[in-house]
Amino acid sequence: MKLTYLGTAAAEGMPAVFCNCAVCKEARRLVGKNIRTRSQALINDELLIDLPADTYFHFLTNGIEGDCIKNLLVTHPHSDHLYPAEFEMRHSPFAHEMRAKTLDVYCGAGAARKIAQIPNVKYVDVHTLSAYQPTAVGDYIVTALPARHMDDPAEEPFIYIIQSEDASLLYANDTGYFFDEVFDYIEKERLFFDCISFDCTHVDLPCRDKDGHMAIDNNFRVNARLEQIGASSEKTVKIINHFSHNGNPIHHRLEELVRPYGWLVSYDGMKTEFTHR
Ligand SMILES: [Zn+2]
Ligand SMILES: [Zn+2]
Ligand SMILES: [Zn+2]
Repeated sequence: MKLTYLGTAAAEGMPAVFCNCAVCKEARRLVGKNIRTRSQALINDELLIDLPADTYFHFLTNGIEGDCIKNLLVTHPHSDHLYPAEFEMRHSPFAHEMRAKTLDVYCGAGAARKIAQIPNVKYVDVHTLSAYQPTAVGDYIVTALPARHMDDPAEEPFIYIIQSEDASLLYANDTGYFFDEVFDYIEKERLFFDCISFDCTHVDLPCRDKDGHMAIDNNFRVNARLEQIGASSEKTVKIINHFSHNGNPIHHRLEELVRPYGWLVSYDGMKTEFTHR
């Protein structure tokens, strides 16, 4: 399985769109991996995760032909993950001769409601997922798990298990420390992840387990509990992702924080491949 990170920032972008703080100024000076757009990822050049306003830019800069994308998973309805007005561009006169006639969108109830508010959506089929129900999406089995992220549980923010014939990924943002029921499900199903992508919005700032995002410390403790139940091991590729300027996510600083533990730091355009070993 190949995972490509298209955007790796939190809602405000990195540097943040209207910010003049020292971290944002440093990112604008350093550029390169310090420039992070809003959150989006792609599995094997075909399964898209999230649809931020930066999607169009991601398609251009990564050579993605958007009309070929058949399946989209949406984690939750926050604007850095779902910008539904873009769906209005998916029919004539804005789009012609699309190779995937419809785009199938898989998401929780809150994201489905947000898409339903857009008046003129055609050739987009929305499928509302239920947590803990493995679902076939193209050649993948996708299982939504509740994320600890939005105050109203009816919004149904999800993290996703994505399984292909050759690998298993846990894509875990946006979320705080996982709910006990999530660990219980993973243990009961005897799941193992070849790669885990962690919400690390707060980097090394203090972050409580009941918060809606995580820091490196929370990531390490989630991973330790996954190791305890056999779902992660030293073979698992662990990646921190989804950064805010408030956490001072200058790329080389992030690498210094996690590289001693063998963890990776996402950046826009990063590709990583992993498989059952
Ligand atoms: Zn986010
Ligand atoms: Zn800033
Ligand atoms: Zn969010």
